[in-house]
Amino acid sequence: MDQHARLKAAHPDCVMLFRIGDFYETFHDDAKIVAEALGLTLTKRKDGVPLAGIPHHQREPYLRRLSDRGFRVAVADQIEDAAQAKGVVQRAVTRVVTPGTLVDDALMAAEHRSVLAAVALDHTRPERVGSALIEPATGAFEVFEASRDDARDELARTRPSELLFATADLDQRPAPMIETLTMGLDAALTPRAVWTFRDAQAERALCETFGVASLDAYGLGEAGAARQAAGAAVLYLHETQPSLDEGGPTLAGRSSLQPPARIDATGVLDATSLRALEVERTMRSGALEGSLLGGFLRPGSAGGATGQPALCRTAMGKRRLRDWLRRPLTDAASVRARQARVATLVEDERLADELTASLDGVRDLSRIAGRLSANRATPRDLVALAESVSSSQQVAALICPVASLASIAAALGTAAEALKDLGDAIREAVEADPPGHLRQGGVFRDGIDAELDEARGLRRDAGDWLTKYQDQLSQTHQLPPLKVGYNKGFGYYLELTAVQAREHASGIDASGLQRQQTLKNAERYTTAELRDFDHKVSTAEARAIEREESLFSDLCASSSKFLQAMRSLSEAAAKLADTAALAGKARLAGWIRQDFDDVPVRDIEEVRHPVLDEALGHRFVPNSLVLAGPEVDEHAHVALITGPNMAGKSTFIRQTALLALLAQVGSYLPATRARIGVCDRSCTRVGADDALHQGRSTFMVEMTETASILHQSTERSLVVLAEIGRGTSTLDGLSLAWAIAEHLSRSGGPRTLFATHYHELTELADTHDGRLRNLHVAVREFTPEPTAEVPSPTTELVFVHRILPGRADQSYGVHVAELAGVPAAVTRRAREVLGSLAVEQRGQNASRVPAASPELRSVEAQLPLFREFVPHPVVDRLRDVKLDALSPLEAFDLLRALKGEVDSQPHAESS
Ligand code: ADP
Repeated sequence: MDQHARLKAAHPDCVMLFRIGDFYETFHDDAKIVAEALGLTLTKRKDGVPLAGIPHHQREPYLRRLSDRGFRVAVADQIEDAAQAKGVVQRAVTRVVTPGTLVDDALMAAEHRSVLAAVALDHTRPERVGSALIEPATGAFEVFEASRDDARDELARTRPSELLFATADLDQRPAPMIETLTMGLDAALTPRAVWTFRDAQAERALCETFGVASLDAYGLGEAGAARQAAGAAVLYLHETQPSLDEGGPTLAGRSSLQPPARIDATGVLDATSLRALEVERTMRSGALEGSLLGGFLRPGSAGGATGQPALCRTAMGKRRLRDWLRRPLTDAASVRARQARVATLVEDERLADELTASLDGVRDLSRIAGRLSANRATPRDLVALAESVSSSQQVAALICPVASLASIAAALGTAAEALKDLGDAIREAVEADPPGHLRQGGVFRDGIDAELDEARGLRRDAGDWLTKYQDQLSQTHQLPPLKVGYNKGFGYYLELTAVQAREHASGIDASGLQRQQTLKNAERYTTAELRDFDHKVSTAEARAIEREESLFSDLCASSSKFLQAMRSLSEAAAKLADTAALAGKARLAGWIRQDFDDVPVRDIEEVRHPVLDEALGHRFVPNSLVLAGPEVDEHAHVALITGPNMAGKSTFIRQTALLALLAQVGSYLPATRARIGVCDRSCTRVGADDALHQGRSTFMVEMTETASILHQSTERSLVVLAEIGRGTSTLDGLSLAWAIAEHLSRSGGPRTLFATHYHELTELADTHDGRLRNLHVAVREFTPEPTAEVPSPTTELVFVHRILPGRADQSYGVHVAELAGVPAAVTRRAREVLGSLAVEQRGQNASRVPAASPELRSVEAQLPLFREFVPHPVVDRLRDVKLDALSPLEAFDLLRALKGEVDSQPHAESS
């Protein structure tokens, strides 16, 4: 318990699994937590200490469940052989399982990258942030320095599982800056002491880890936020996964990391667009199903009907595909090249099928490489490696003659060639289906190592020796045939039935058989010779296993010389798997290849929403969009889409952004024709994004987002906005939406789709030189024939989801409320209020509007903008007055009273 207390004190924020014999025990509060979280029985030691334990061989699934529940878990193992220990067996924490430092396949889904991030703020340049991103399972290590906005977007694209930040007080909430950076990220935020981020400390940690004297080669030669973040991340890894093999924790044991690579943190999709477009998870439930990625990984699942084979079957391919969708290409040449590769596989279905089948044989080499470099590889990893090499050779041969795939074939071929001898050596030495663990023995084949053969020979020949020995004993002493058996406690024994033992008592005495165990119906014996033999055999077994361990470690060491080749092979195979996945999708869903253009989205025909289309099937109504070209004005780059709620505005603008994204990924598209080019940024703001609202008003979030779009978008950007100005009063909202639409419509502004239910905005089209066009979503009003029961039926609204040129003239809000089941009394009253407001509007003029700023004045002049006023109480009173019942004097008194009321309530006027 002292030992436990000592280890626990060093890891106070962790649940500690403490190895005792065949169990991992937990004590005190840990026991309560674990029992509750894992549904185990909570017991008590004699001294009253709460206790809960798990069998050691079930550690991984339990670890996974604890880590999924958000616990940090420290695993304390016995680090010396219990048989040889003097006193209490020595224990040490051999790993700390945290969300960002998972390396075991058992602990994480194959298709997910578990990434550890660290962020450091640059105190000399407050707008800059440095960050390090490490994927412990493969050793990939990236660093960047960027503006806060770019850093936030890059983190959203990477989606780390855990994020480290420096704090002076570990118990405090993260600084607001860190909260902003990580908003909506879903990462476990791990506070770390400030010193772990210090520059000198970082430099030392990195130099030691990579065995270099200077970090210049990695672009980290200068002090700075990126270097600090990198150092902090490495230190943390070192703490959570100490490498004890070298006789004590050392940083040099971290060679499993690849050298840090500087990356550019600018991308096409920002954090909000990733969410709004539901690229890898849905906005509402956060599920993969129903997202764009989900449609590739599990086709057919959007509509609930699964059963289609996965389009991308390899784990590496799945991780890469996620990256492809999150990070569309930015130069047209690369997009064209990828598109051509996809086309090849769309056109040649047989090739695609054969390719997919062979790729199944290429296993997760990036993770195998990661495990090899971290000394965690298993015999099965080596076999998988060998298998992958031969499968890659097949793949390379298959695609070599295909021009568009030649460069991948070459990369794959080169890597496979480099690994060929290693693969052969593994196949020659290791059994095809080895046990999962070396301790079980039987990993290596016979005939590859004389020492191993000899040790094994003894055991194998044991059977013959025993038969001979047993015959000889029986014959010499006239005993009945002796049965030979083996049990763990006693080793080999000879057995006679109780009856035989009684009948041959004298022969037994003479033979030198010594009684070892008496059972109900049998007697068991041993002899000095048999004990000798037993000892030889059992040490031979241990010797064989020891020998296997040494052979295995040699083989791992030679494999570790080829990590780079494994990584390139893995990279090329993932690329192919994803090309095949895009092609598979295109074929399955009947997508088309687009014509590349020089502007982002020129015209697209009969476009379907890639996910909704799958869910709704033939009920989905495709729509077209011409944003530029001879049919419309030369300069047109903004489409203003009006229409009632629920008509399909968001769907339409989202699907356009998704189409542009898919085009830029190199995919085929759900349309009948498309001309789309590369955009530098794609900014989509559609739908309430609750993830962003933590502690801020919807309106504030919306305006912050809008500000970033207005600042950053260029002529080459695609901006997709819905319902700007929702979060404030109608008047404010409309004014802002107006001004924003106007700003986006300036010449040189971005390609924009602007959906709004403020149909007043449609008048912008009259004054913006054709740069802004009106589109609307058609709805049909339908009034059923009157019947005897329903003499005056209400008009119903039918959504036809068709986008047409021109403007919408009504909002139909009350209709939609009816559809949503708002009680009839309420919608009836809403109609009355609407009617009275409409009456009032007719009497309005702009002079009632408070003096406007110069910018607003131009807006005012263009349309009767400020229409929807809350009725003044005086108006209500006037409405109720029965003029015929008033005498002239009463009328005058009333007039005076009303005037007085108006004068005393100026606020009502400005509302
Ligand atoms: P809005 O943004 O105008 O309020 P949405 O785009 O959210 O409307 O669409 C409302 C619903 O209408 C969607 O959930 C979808 O079920 C349906 N819908 C939208 N567009 C289409 C379409 N093109 N074809 C079929 N159904 C559609």
